Amino acid sequence: MSILVWIEQIEGKALSSSWEVLGKAKELAADLGTSTVALVIGEGVDAVAQEALRYGADTVYTVASPVLKQYRLQPYAAALGSAIDAAGASVVLTAATTHGRTLAAFVACQRGAGIASGVSDLRVEGGALAAERSAFSGNIIHDVHFSGDLKVASVRPRAFSMPEVGEAAGEVKALSLSLVEGDVREKITDFRVANLGEVSLTDARIIVSGGRGVAADPAKGFQLVADLADLLSAAVGASRAAVDAGYVPYKHQVGQTGKSVKPDLYIAAGISGAIQHLAGMGESKVIVAINKDPDAPIFERAHYAIVDDLFTALPALSEEFKKRLG
Ligand SMILES: Cc1cc2nc3c(=O)[nH]c(=O)nc-3n(C[C@H](O)[C@H](O)[C@H](O)COP(=O)(O)OP(=O)(O)OC[C@H]3O[C@@H](n4cnc5c(N)ncnc54)[C@H](O)[C@@H]3O)c2cc1C
Repeated sequence: MSILVWIEQIEGKALSSSWEVLGKAKELAADLGTSTVALVIGEGVDAVAQEALRYGADTVYTVASPVLKQYRLQPYAAALGSAIDAAGASVVLTAATTHGRTLAAFVACQRGAGIASGVSDLRVEGGALAAERSAFSGNIIHDVHFSGDLKVASVRPRAFSMPEVGEAAGEVKALSLSLVEGDVREKITDFRVANLGEVSLTDARIIVSGGRGVAADPAKGFQLVADLADLLSAAVGASRAAVDAGYVPYKHQVGQTGKSVKPDLYIAAGISGAIQHLAGMGESKVIVAINKDPDAPIFERAHYAIVDDLFTALPALSEEFKKRLG
């Protein structure tokens, strides 16, 4: 029996959300009296495997092959399947990223396992794993209890804090992949990393988002959003209305049909606060809303309300942060 955590990595860099899940897995393993196993899949994954040991994994399995250079569901599911068997895993956890959610769901289906997607908490109750999920913009929190011997869950980024880095005490074991390239039906014809250095929305501690309120001058409005985001080392978010209008690409969309985020600080500029937007950011720790309409629904959820034109308020905020942050 063990808790197996898939450590998602891109080009040799692990996602912080995977470390958050590993840290929580350590706590759960202590409660369940079992061990924590990390799994790193890819090509050239030794450095990430060593990092996983320093983040507290008792054992790290690696599955390395040119076939696994980039994420593809079929070979990654095969690699995860062999790690489940090798580790005798009773729990499989992934970060609830796009890949993590898909992989968890696929493997759960293959194995007939109980699955909870995008959980916000995990705990041991009566000697068994239980999860907590939120729905309807955080208005409903429900518990999930698993049936079956194998339990699978994907965990929302930033649901748990980053674990401390310590001395590596465990061991790394290499597993081999049963598939060869000819077996894989998905083919990647091109791979480009978009905007290196850009802060990822799902991992961001601070997000500055813009909405249709920038319509008077969208280019300037989103430049002001980006300027404030730059100053705060924050990610840039957007409402669907802003994305649909072509002000920013879809990858910035927050909400029901965009990304779910849970930053420490969410600054919403010119966003009305539709239920579908709140579905993606309603659990942010502190929400600051800038809107010129004092009756905008976003103010019902905001901790701080700035009733003003965003074209005035955003530069004023940037100016003030510049002074204070040097
Ligand atoms: C199935 C479905 C899924 C959806 N998924 C999403 C989703 O994932 N994410 C999402 O965001 N939406 C989603 N929507 C759309 C959602 O319902 C809203 O239409 C959208 O969120 C509105 O975006 P907005 O707040 O930017 O625009 P609006 O609702 O038009 O609000 C603009 C706000 O800006 C304010 N404003 C205007 N000018 C200024 C100014 N100069 N300074 C300050 N404030 C100003 C206005 O007072 C207003 O409150 C979805 C809808 C459906 C039906």
